[in-house]
Amino acid sequence: MIPNVVSAGTSRRAPSRRGRSLWQERLLPAGRCAAVVISQTMTLQLGKRQWGRMERRTVKSLKRIAIDMDEVIADFSEKHLRLYNDQFGESLTAEDLRGHRLWTLRPQVADDILSMLDHPLFFRDLSVMPDSQEVIAELARDYEIFIATAAMERPTSFAAKYEWLKEHFPFLPDKNFVFCGDKSIIYADYLIDDSVRHFKRFVGQGILFTASHNIYEEGYVRVKDWQDVRRYFRETARGEEP
Ligand SMILES: [Mg+2]
Repeated sequence: MIPNVVSAGTSRRAPSRRGRSLWQERLLPAGRCAAVVISQTMTLQLGKRQWGRMERRTVKSLKRIAIDMDEVIADFSEKHLRLYNDQFGESLTAEDLRGHRLWTLRPQVADDILSMLDHPLFFRDLSVMPDSQEVIAELARDYEIFIATAAMERPTSFAAKYEWLKEHFPFLPDKNFVFCGDKSIIYADYLIDDSVRHFKRFVGQGILFTASHNIYEEGYVRVKDWQDVRRYFRETARGEEP
C-alpha cells in the first residue's frame, strides 16, 4: 500500500475518503487527465500537420500567371495613335510603330504624346484584346491569374484601370489585381508582357506578347496573340516544348 504522505495538519486539501489510497484518490485521476491532454495535443498536432500538408499541396498545385494590361489585354496603342493623329494631323498606323514607341518615333513632341496618358479617363475605354477574356477565363481553371500593371508610371490611371478590369474581367477577384511599379516584385511562374524590361529580374518564365514596338526583340519566348497564349499553355500542360 502506498503511504499517505500528506500530513493532515499541513494539507489544505480535503482528506481522503475512507478506504481509498492516495494512488486511487489523486495520482490515478491526474494520470488519466494527463493522458487525455497528451492525446488531444497529439491529435491537434497531427491535425495541424495534415492541414499544413493539404494547404501546401493546394498552393503548390496551382501555378501563377501574371498578365500585363496595356498592349496585352488592353489595346493601348490603337487609342494612343488615334488621339495623336487627331491632334497632329497625321495618319500613322501600327506599321509605323514597328520597333518604336510613339514618343520615340516623334521625339520632338514626346512630352505632348506622353501627357495624353495622364488624362484620368485615357485607360477607361480601351478596347479589349481579341480572345483575351475567353482564354484567361479558361486558364483561370488551372492557374492562379494575376493582372500586373506598372500603374505607378501613370498614377492618374488607377481608377480607370480598376473600373476597366471590373467591366471586362469580372470573373477575376479584386485581390488578383496588382498595381505596381517595378514588376520584379511579382512572384509568379509566368509573366505575359509586351515590355522586355520586366523580364530582366523576373523569377519565372517571361512570355513576350507581340506588339509593334517589340517586333525586333529576340531571345524571348514569344506569343503573337491570345490564341497563341492558349496554344502555349496547352502544350506546356502536355509536357511538350511550346
Ligand atoms: Mg504593357
